[in-house]
Amino acid sequence: MNPTIEVVFRLGLALAVFAAMAAWEAFAPRRPLSVGRWSRWPSNFGIVVVDALLVRLLMPTAVLGAAVYAAGHGLGLFHQLNLRLSVAFLLGFLILDLVIYAQHVMFHRLPWLWRLHRMHHADLDIDVSTGLRFHPFEILISLAIKIAVVMAFGIPPVAVFVFEVVLNATSLFNHSNVRMPQAVDRVARLLLVTPDMHRVHHSIDSAEHNSNFGFNLPWWDRLFGTYRREPAAGHDRMTIGLPVFRDRKELRLDRLLTQPFRDDEPRAP
Ligand SMILES: [Zn+2]
Ligand SMILES: [Zn+2]
Repeated sequence: MNPTIEVVFRLGLALAVFAAMAAWEAFAPRRPLSVGRWSRWPSNFGIVVVDALLVRLLMPTAVLGAAVYAAGHGLGLFHQLNLRLSVAFLLGFLILDLVIYAQHVMFHRLPWLWRLHRMHHADLDIDVSTGLRFHPFEILISLAIKIAVVMAFGIPPVAVFVFEVVLNATSLFNHSNVRMPQAVDRVARLLLVTPDMHRVHHSIDSAEHNSNFGFNLPWWDRLFGTYRREPAAGHDRMTIGLPVFRDRKELRLDRLLTQPFRDDEPRAP
């Protein structure tokens, strides 16, 4: 696919999903926000702009380019095995999702990676904009891992494209502060990570934020024993964020960018 069309399509779809979730949050919020949109959204949008500029400057072809290259040169396990496109598509999607899950666990377990990832968790509320809030270095490391996996397996470009589009949409969806009937959440949770499921991962409680690592498919958490159904304090009363970076000035864009390199002590309880 033409890179310009790819960017326009992904941007258009992300904006549409963002607008839909923001409207849903306004009409049927799951819980009251403690800080609100106005103090957080400018920085959460700002970080997306920084991420986009950095990625487009340093890795213009990104993951899809790697898939097109692998397909053109017959690289990767799937080409060696001569898999049918439909099989390679399904396997490729599952492998990418499992890798994203494993990478997320790694970002929590390795101290130097946690420094980058904790900026995502330091948001004092969780809503659709939190789904955009990732440190640019985390984005670059994630891209490098995805490129390596795509090349190693020879994951077809169509699977990579669909995966990236779905991942963008589900990240916005499952960070949203939206209310949906319990019965709908229960059924949806069989197939994808719902907002109630991912909110547990943003709890200030370390046992809770070390669970529910999935972004698209909820199965890996159940398979590897990291699934937690709901927060102990309940969705309405749970505290979002980390013990560190609780000062409101930490919501500024410059503070978000420098959080990985600072050793702020937790505030006294
Ligand atoms: Zn996390
Ligand atoms: Zn999250």
